[in-house]
Amino acid sequence: MSATAPDTTDATGVLRDWLAGFRRVFVLTGAGISTGSGIPDYRDANGEWKRAAPVTWQAFTGDAAVYRRYWARSFVGWPKFSVAQPNAAHDALASLERVGPVTTLLTQNVDGLHQAAGSQRVIDLHGRLGQVTCLSCGDLMPRDALQPQLVSDNPGWHPGDAAMAPDGDADIATEAEKRFVPPHCARCGGLLKPDVVFFGENVPRARVQDAQAALAASDAMLVVGSSLMVYSGFRFAKMATDAGLPLAILNGGTTRADALASLRLDAEIGATLGALGA
Ligand SMILES: [Zn+2]
Repeated sequence: MSATAPDTTDATGVLRDWLAGFRRVFVLTGAGISTGSGIPDYRDANGEWKRAAPVTWQAFTGDAAVYRRYWARSFVGWPKFSVAQPNAAHDALASLERVGPVTTLLTQNVDGLHQAAGSQRVIDLHGRLGQVTCLSCGDLMPRDALQPQLVSDNPGWHPGDAAMAPDGDADIATEAEKRFVPPHCARCGGLLKPDVVFFGENVPRARVQDAQAALAASDAMLVVGSSLMVYSGFRFAKMATDAGLPLAILNGGTTRADALASLRLDAEIGATLGALGA
């Protein structure tokens, strides 16, 4: 059984009624909630890649050219990514935690915008881009602190015409990538990696268990802005429905869990959630 409500006004009303039926709602969010904050997403309405697939853990750590390319693109993408602000959808979910049934927010995003909107109980499934770690000695530093180092290591470097890409990434010219001097750990010279889970890398077990426990203590699950194409997110929708919990999905376009959902809303996310308080 599946209900659809393409009109935003209807979608808000349907979602409000659905939420009213539960006391403890576990929410999973994805890139679609942050596009309204100017951060692009990865996939189109059919769940297909809009661009080349993101860099993998294996290539990042094993191929110096991929490492250099990652950091060249991050250098360009970070200034804009780091100043993104929460939008009406983030604000609505923070409000639903304060005065509504939302108990836990599990997010696939690495932008920290739920915390910026005031949500307290947030699990960053794939980590946060705002922190950088050394793969050799484990040293941690804020990503903001790395930017001045990249500037001084690359005097006169210019990316050419650049376009913002997902997760603080940017599309830049290949020739510019090749001239970029990537960063290394100031303490030991090791490779530096943003503290996020790359494709081909496992989510830390304790984090998964934390999210599973929160889901087990819930009586419904709501997915917002994710196509759930990545298994690390999809498995929570599967887990919820296996446990008999109702699953609602608010997303523009199809998702991998559409067949599992008891409520399926294909509507604009910011407008739909933003109008909940009205
Ligand atoms: Zn180090």
